[in-house]
Amino acid sequence: MQIKKIGVVGAGTMGNGIAQLAAQIGCDVVMTDIEMKFVEGGMKKINSFLSKSVEKGKMDGKEKEAIVARIKGTTDIADLKDVDFVVEAVIEDLDLKKRVFKQLDELCRPDVVLATNTSSMSITEIGASTKRPDKVCGMHFFNPAPLMRLVEVIRGYSTSDATIRTTIELAEKMGKTTVEVKKDSPGFIVNRIMIPHFLEAIKIVEEGIASIEDVDTAVKNGLNYPMGPFELMDLTGIDIAYFVSEYLYKELNKENKWVAPNLLKTMVRAGKLGKKTAEGWYK
Ligand code: NAD
Repeated sequence: MQIKKIGVVGAGTMGNGIAQLAAQIGCDVVMTDIEMKFVEGGMKKINSFLSKSVEKGKMDGKEKEAIVARIKGTTDIADLKDVDFVVEAVIEDLDLKKRVFKQLDELCRPDVVLATNTSSMSITEIGASTKRPDKVCGMHFFNPAPLMRLVEVIRGYSTSDATIRTTIELAEKMGKTTVEVKKDSPGFIVNRIMIPHFLEAIKIVEEGIASIEDVDTAVKNGLNYPMGPFELMDLTGIDIAYFVSEYLYKELNKENKWVAPNLLKTMVRAGKLGKKTAEGWYK
C-alpha cells in the first residue's frame, strides 16, 4: 500500500515536527489534539520552522505554503478514518496511549500501521490494546524531529516483519537513518546508552573528581562526541534524565547503575529544569 495520507495524534513538541516531516515528503497530514489551542500551537511551530528554512534559502515561499496546506489540524480524531499510516505522539502516559490506540484501531482501516513515538513505554502492551498488534510498532523520533537524523523502529512481541518494513521505508523517505530495535526493551538503544553516561557524569562531579566544564571537554575531545553530557542535559532537560533513570531502574531489574545520584535528585527537586538549568549545577 502506498502511504499518501498520514495521521498524527498530538500536536505538541514531537507531533508537530512529525506532521511537518510527513507533509515535506508530499503526504497529506491530519494532525489532531484535544483542544484547538494545541493544534494552533503546533501549526504555529511548523510555520515558524519553515519560515526560517525560507530565510536560509533552503526552500522557497511557495514550497513552504504547499507544505503547510497539506496539513489539516483538527480536534476530532475521527478525521483520521481514511489515513494510511498513524504516528501517535500524545503525552507519555501508558493508559492514555492504550485508550488512543483502541480508538485508532476502531477507526482506521485494518491494513493501517499504528506507530507510537513513545520514548519508553512497552510497544507490546500498547499493541495489545488493539485487535491488530501485528501492525503496531514503535517509531521513535528525536527532538527536534525535523532535524534529528535518527528514528528507532521498535518491534513489539507481535509486530510483523511487514510492519517494520513499512515503518522503516517511511522513516527513510523522511530522510532519516533508521535502526531496528528487535526486542521491546525499555530505553530501546539510545536512552539505554544515554542515561548511564548522564548518571556517571553527574557522579564524577558529585565526587569532586572533575568540574562540569572538564567533564564536557573530556567527552567532546576524548570520545569525539559533539556535545558533553551536561550540555546535552541542558538541552533535553534534567527532569527527563531523572524520570527516565527511575523508570529504567524499575523496569531493568533494579540494577544499581540506574540509580539517580543525589545531586540529580536535588536539582530536580529544586526545580532546576529545562534548558540552561545546568548553570545551577555550579552552586
Ligand atoms: P507534548 O506534551 O509536547 O505534546 C503532547 C500533546 O499530546 C499535547 O499537545 C497534548 O494536548 C496532546 N494530547 C494529550 N492527549 C491527547 C489525546 N487524547 N488526543 C490527541 N492529543 C492528545 O509531548 P511531546 O514532548 O511531544 O511527547 C510526545 C511523545 O513523544 C511522548 O510519548 C514522549 O515520550 C515522546 N518523545 C518525546 C521527545 C521529546 O524530547 N519531547 C523525544 C522523543 C519522544
